[in-house]
Amino acid sequence: MTNLATITESPCSADVSWDGVDLPTLAQRVGTPCHVYSAASIRQRIGALQAALRGLDALVCYAAKANSNIAILQLMAQAGFGADIVSAGEMRRSLRAGIPAQRIVFSGVGKSAEEIVEALTAGIARFNVESEDELHLLQRLAAEQGVIAHAAVRVNPDVDALTHAKISTGKSENKFGVGIDEARRWFADSAQFTHVRLDGLHVHIGSQMLDLAPIRVALQRVADFWRELAAAGRAINSIDVGGGLGVCYRAGRDQPMVIEDYVAVVRGALAGFGGRILFEPGRWLVAEAGALLTRVIRVKQGRQRRFLVVDAAMTELLRPSLYDAWHEIVPVTRERRPSQVYDVVGPVCETGDTFAVERELPRCEAGDLLMIRTTGAYGASMASTYNSRPLVAEVLLDHGRYAIVRRRQTVEDMLAGEQPAREWEVT
Ligand SMILES: *Cc1c(COP(=O)(O)O)cnc(C)c1O
Repeated sequence: MTNLATITESPCSADVSWDGVDLPTLAQRVGTPCHVYSAASIRQRIGALQAALRGLDALVCYAAKANSNIAILQLMAQAGFGADIVSAGEMRRSLRAGIPAQRIVFSGVGKSAEEIVEALTAGIARFNVESEDELHLLQRLAAEQGVIAHAAVRVNPDVDALTHAKISTGKSENKFGVGIDEARRWFADSAQFTHVRLDGLHVHIGSQMLDLAPIRVALQRVADFWRELAAAGRAINSIDVGGGLGVCYRAGRDQPMVIEDYVAVVRGALAGFGGRILFEPGRWLVAEAGALLTRVIRVKQGRQRRFLVVDAAMTELLRPSLYDAWHEIVPVTRERRPSQVYDVVGPVCETGDTFAVERELPRCEAGDLLMIRTTGAYGASMASTYNSRPLVAEVLLDHGRYAIVRRRQTVEDMLAGEQPAREWEVT
């Protein structure tokens, strides 16, 4: 078995450099906390996915929300990938990174009229439509512009993705997509949609999936629907199989699927399909390629627990607070030290600002540099300035070199746009 997930270059506890860059020196220069991303690791994932897709008429539309830094989007653009966006902001980022509009697909239940107009004007590849109201709005706005919008129905196949409830999207009680019965009606009524070419199907049942079985079931349902539509004379030109491939956050616990096995399931379910297959991985491409560097501020001995207070917080990495997610934490040092049990917490005034509970780590002291691993996806892209903490720097590593791809926000940057209520107006 060639599990590419396990051979991707990644830092280990005994290592102080990553992608040829010395991390303690980097932390000195750039400051902490900061997000670092290995370009080599991302390219490795890109290459593995491209190899697995060989022979398919496939387009990979990277899910920009996983990590929407323009430098990361640029790596995707260089690979010929498109983008799956969920807002006009992500579209602007993608275009700025050099991803052509013809490779951009737009998902999400809450596309506003303004966002749809902007996307129509840019000429994006397709809208993944999630409600009847959105379909009518798309028809009206495309007609007003005198253009034809390409659209896919996001089908909710009512399948449990067997992942965390907050990142499960393919059950009928979730807000995403429409049932197959409703989708069937849309196709039956499609003559009234003079400015929407409804010729695609889309499915995305959840994130951080480690199990192929629910994917197989969901794709089977979509494939049955495609065959039914084809038999009724309705051509389907693209099937978008979504993203959701899981990664290894916890060695020995999370067993990601092998990319070839995943693609084999897609090939099997869609055998005989002559159109284009779209893939929308986000996390799988970038999660393991990122780490959050943070420094110990102090060790605080509580009555019951020993706290390692670090300078990173839920503002830089929300996943532990939001999903009780587990992230590996390692000191960036070659020293061998006795172990100690800590609760690793940030400075934010929330009990939920906790990275790890009762974690056994090498003994730490104030000033030590730590690395929180597997933070390349849904890390910086979920950041906030809560507690008036400026957004942190992001750094791209590439074969012994590094580049700042987001400069640390200053307090002045953060305050820009705010003002006392001086000029009052009435409605
Ligand atoms: C979030 C999302 C993805 C990417 O999910 P990952 O788990 O990061 O691969 C793909 N498609 C849609 C529609 C999404 O909302």
